[in-house]
Amino acid sequence: MDLYGRLLHDVLFPGFEALRNRPTVALQRYLDHTQWASSDELHAIQSGLLRRLIRHAWHHTRHYREVLERAGLGPDDLRGPEDLVRLPLLDKDTLRASRETRRADAPPYAVIDKVSSGSTGEPTTVSYNAESRHWRDATRWRGYGWAGYRIGQRALHYWGFGVTPPKSRWKRAKVELDHRLKRDLYIDCTPRSDEHLAHVVDEIRRYRPEVIVTYSQAGATLARYVTRTGARTWGTIPVICGAERVFDHDREALTEAFGPAVFETYGSREVMLMAAECEAHDGMHLAMETQILEVVVREPDGSSRPAAPGEAGEVVVTDLHNLASPLIRYLNGDRAVQRAPSRCACGRWLSRLGPIEGRVTETLRDGAGNPVSGLIFNILFVYITETAKQFQVVQRADDTVVLRIVPDGEIRPDARAQMLAYLGRYLPGVPVEIEAVDDIPLGPAGKRRLVVVEPRAT
Ligand SMILES: [Zn+2]
Repeated sequence: MDLYGRLLHDVLFPGFEALRNRPTVALQRYLDHTQWASSDELHAIQSGLLRRLIRHAWHHTRHYREVLERAGLGPDDLRGPEDLVRLPLLDKDTLRASRETRRADAPPYAVIDKVSSGSTGEPTTVSYNAESRHWRDATRWRGYGWAGYRIGQRALHYWGFGVTPPKSRWKRAKVELDHRLKRDLYIDCTPRSDEHLAHVVDEIRRYRPEVIVTYSQAGATLARYVTRTGARTWGTIPVICGAERVFDHDREALTEAFGPAVFETYGSREVMLMAAECEAHDGMHLAMETQILEVVVREPDGSSRPAAPGEAGEVVVTDLHNLASPLIRYLNGDRAVQRAPSRCACGRWLSRLGPIEGRVTETLRDGAGNPVSGLIFNILFVYITETAKQFQVVQRADDTVVLRIVPDGEIRPDARAQMLAYLGRYLPGVPVEIEAVDDIPLGPAGKRRLVVVEPRAT
């Protein structure tokens, strides 16, 4: 790292966080230490935090008081993560319906609301307290650190953008300054035409990033373009992939274009980074100090059990530091493969997760036939979660796009106009309709899909 990078990492970032009363740096130090803890120590950390969470939820939220009483449990009856099976799962409908009753009536109070559209098109809002946010930040930096990414490095974020840029010029300038100080370069990854990919390659040559953080499929598409056009003029650049699954063929493409340092991560807007790949590249380590992640199989009779090693099941997450609006055994809609607990070749005991299934986003076509990532809809739908219970987008064989929305109340005209403007920008030349419907039927395998692309008529 050069001198400015060192200054950022050693002085400016810790000072900045301290000024804002954020313990991020202390938490990072703690997590750097506990990543080497034994499995007994990790179990003890999780048990202590879980007992605190359950006690707080019992005393201060109506929802969890009722849930625990129905299960015949008091505030001190859960001793460790293995006892979580005694509590019911929290599905998305219940999450939505319990937003008020899960809110704790004692500090720490929620200071942040995050909305997510997820991969199934059922929007959710999650609220959390400041402490939870600091843990999220520290957990992300640790996970990124396994890929060699340190604060202060020049980073290219090849990522999706929000619908509306920050309004005032002052705010835009502030965000811009923040990115420049932290040396972050952001490039929108949703357009996938050769012209756009060539622009990204130019930016890589000019900016010389020390790390690339990318949506997995976007990164893989870029990598294939780099190899196909012989554009690689750089050595190894570590690539941190997120938001979508990294398949073996994607990893090969990324390795060819950017070198062998390819790292998959798994996160969500509800709890942020849940798992990240280490230097041993053998599954993703869970952030056990911040969450309890279970892989669960629901039986036809309504009961559920932990998935066996090698078996796929539903991802269930408990956020250990969100006391303001507890999230306990939340079914986030993803499926993953369970792995037997064992020590990783890197030396860490942090449990590992197998592949995440079904995290793949469809690719649409704009009016000129250029590919456009379906991720634009994950981003778009976040902005209409207040007015929609479910949504889905279908690109028909004739290229027309239909946005199906199950409204919760009314779709405001300004929201409608904003959606159409956004889509006009990303899908130029494609007619778009917005259709209010009563229900969105399940697709094949009983799964609801956010984006459906019908093959083009020939
Ligand atoms: Zn490892």
